[in-house]
Amino acid sequence: MSLLEVRDLFKHYPAGDGLFWATRERIRAVDGVSFTLERGETLGLVGESGCGKSTLGKLIVRLEEPTAGKIYYDNREITSLYGRKLRELRCKIQIIFQDPYSSLNPRQTVGSIIGEPLANFKLGTREEQMQRVAELLDTVGLDPEHISRYPHEFSGGQLQRINIARALALEPELIVCDEPVSSLDVSIRLQILNLLRDLKIRFGLSYIFISHDLAAVSYLADRIAVMYLGKIVEVLPTGDLLSGACHPYTRGLLAAVPEPDPRQRYSRQVTVKGEPPNPADPPPGCRFHPRCPEARQVCREKEPMLQDVNEGHLVSCHLSSR
Ligand code: SF4
Ligand code: MG
Repeated sequence: MSLLEVRDLFKHYPAGDGLFWATRERIRAVDGVSFTLERGETLGLVGESGCGKSTLGKLIVRLEEPTAGKIYYDNREITSLYGRKLRELRCKIQIIFQDPYSSLNPRQTVGSIIGEPLANFKLGTREEQMQRVAELLDTVGLDPEHISRYPHEFSGGQLQRINIARALALEPELIVCDEPVSSLDVSIRLQILNLLRDLKIRFGLSYIFISHDLAAVSYLADRIAVMYLGKIVEVLPTGDLLSGACHPYTRGLLAAVPEPDPRQRYSRQVTVKGEPPNPADPPPGCRFHPRCPEARQVCREKEPMLQDVNEGHLVSCHLSSR
């Protein structure tokens, strides 16, 4: 039994609303997505900005309501939970956002930021909560003595550690990490990735790790799901990525990852040109066809389905279907 199962999920927003380019119909941010996540697994969700991966993350933690489709957590449908039951779910599933600066209240001390979920759920006395916050600071590699400091007294990497501590406060099982290192200096990204990896082992966590950066995703993920314009176009084990990626878009993302050793360069390299099309008006047939160097007539007419090509490897491309 999977820890999480997403079944045929859609999230469409009304177009317009200040978005001058979205004049027609609705923005199809998530447009028929299905996948599973096993307990203890890290699933990487990768794709260009605007492909719907953050929306998918927010749907999973129930910060957004789906237009259609269902999400099951631990075999229980969570898309229809409200009130107390939804609050209970919040203990199990947490989210970490990209920007550690704006996701923390500058007027609160670190103690009250990290302790807020404990206070909201009335877990222990104030003293016990502060004791727990001190432990959490230590867990994420910060000095527990800094409990009374304010966000401006910390660096970007330290602020992301504070966000991670807050996400851990309620002892969740699943954490959706939405671009957790993208806004950090390159020099400290690896430290945060390693912290996430260590926490996963220590607390038996499962992650959905969202990033536009395939290198960051492959560092942590057991499996990778590639999203393009609201849909998953390929899912494969991380170990198969370099030699086995089939979808021309995945191969384009791979080509963009700098490879220190030129002999290791990927053989079937594809360069993805141009910008993603308007998500309110996706192209007919395969959505990737206007940018795909391998597109042919069928791609313009018929939408490819996500199909098994190998064990644990799904691809949505006419060239890969049997
Ligand atoms: Fe390219 Fe066609 Fe495959 Fe789409 S279905 S990725 S256009 S080859
Ligand atoms: Mg995003």
